[in-house]
Amino acid sequence: MQVRKRGEVPLAFVHTYGCQQNVADSEKIKGMLEKMGFAFTDTPENADFILFNTCAVREHAEDRVFGNVGALKNIKRRFPGVIIALCGCMMEQEHVAQRIHDSYPFVNLLFGTHQICNFPQLLFTCITDSTRVFARGGEEQDKEIAENLPIHRDGKTKAWLTVMYGCDNFCSYCVVPYVRGRERSRTPKAVQAEFEGLVRQGYKDITLLGQNVNSYGKKPDCGVNFAQLLKRLDAVPGDYRIRFMTSHPKDCTHELLDVMAAGKHIAHHLHLPFQSGNDRVLKEMNRHYDRAKYLELIAYARSVMPDLSLTSDVIVGFPGETYEEFKDTVSLIEKVGFTSLFTFIFSPREGTRAEKMPDPIPAEEKSRWFQELCAAQEQIAAKRCASAVGTVQRVLVEEKNPKTGLLTGRTGGNVVVDFPGEESLCGTFQMVKITAARNWILTGELCG
Ligand code: SAM
Ligand code: SF4
Repeated sequence: MQVRKRGEVPLAFVHTYGCQQNVADSEKIKGMLEKMGFAFTDTPENADFILFNTCAVREHAEDRVFGNVGALKNIKRRFPGVIIALCGCMMEQEHVAQRIHDSYPFVNLLFGTHQICNFPQLLFTCITDSTRVFARGGEEQDKEIAENLPIHRDGKTKAWLTVMYGCDNFCSYCVVPYVRGRERSRTPKAVQAEFEGLVRQGYKDITLLGQNVNSYGKKPDCGVNFAQLLKRLDAVPGDYRIRFMTSHPKDCTHELLDVMAAGKHIAHHLHLPFQSGNDRVLKEMNRHYDRAKYLELIAYARSVMPDLSLTSDVIVGFPGETYEEFKDTVSLIEKVGFTSLFTFIFSPREGTRAEKMPDPIPAEEKSRWFQELCAAQEQIAAKRCASAVGTVQRVLVEEKNPKTGLLTGRTGGNVVVDFPGEESLCGTFQMVKITAARNWILTGELCG
């Protein structure tokens, strides 16, 4: 097998499915590709190397991957030298790897989440031995986190910074602990060095990533918990904003909320997934908090940050959930008033506890509940947005929208604001007076 030549530089096409952790992983893989001499293309037909970084969290995401991989067969037929590779969470599942092996013979390379740092070697073997390479598992090697991998960041203003890998929580519906392995934290020194580098390079919106950032530092015991890490990073001088995700309510502390409130650079935005507003369902989900504890956290957070913007994840139709229990979720969102919600219908995942639970509610019924929840949230979001009219917000300008000609940016609360202005303002913070709200998008004008 040979990489086909296209001028001097081979081209790679990398497509990422799923969460920000996958985006961050793809940036590392792209960093390695760049070091190997690749440039990037947005058109798979032009590429010498095609990679899909996949997501296993819901069945729908998996189906899309299988569909899109199937479509690559045509490209392979037209350009037999192209190397097709798959990586990410889906590939850590035995049944997926087997299906790719048996039914997608044009896939040359498959590697899982624990094999990312071995990617250059795997690709080298694939090219030089003209053989299919399948590399999965290998969690043992993750005990030492591979530091200093090259990173090709997609943005110039926003950056992702992984502080911890894996998850130990085993929520009963979730496949993540099986495909990303046990929780492990980077050292505070390594995190701080990367963070300072990002600030020096001019990144303005830095998101600290982990499946449960609140358990940062527990494994290995690095003597610094997440609140303390955040405080250290916030002390780095510069003009930037810090966010973090995801927080798990069971480990979210007043100490963390106090650090946010006192911080100079920390956005008053908390993504705190509650999943369900009903205590029985939360117990079945193995979430280790109840509705009262969640509401207590929110009340404390708002008492120290009255301008706090809250976002969350919710699952509708968990096995055995009744309509009355679902209504507790609706009442919780009405009580809290989230800025926005990521809403999901339960998707059974192979190997999880919830997959085996009796699930009598038909899909159409769950779909109706889902619509009901979305409609309730739309009203809440519209009301919250409307309450911002007349306020002045510090907005990070992201881009000029070619369709509207307006600048688009985000507030600290992660709400989109459109306003007229020069393209040269992209990548800077601007004070914007909010003049109107349309559903969940604000419009405004630059302050003098
Ligand atoms: N670690 C984060 C946490 O605990 O909140 C979230 C990780 S997961 C990638 C993102 C969201 O996907 C979860 O918060 C949950 O709402 C949703 N999710 C996970 N497994 C799911 C499943 N089997 N069916 C439907 N939604 C699911
Ligand atoms: Fe999945 Fe729960 Fe871990 Fe989040 S905390 S990744 S939902 S197991």
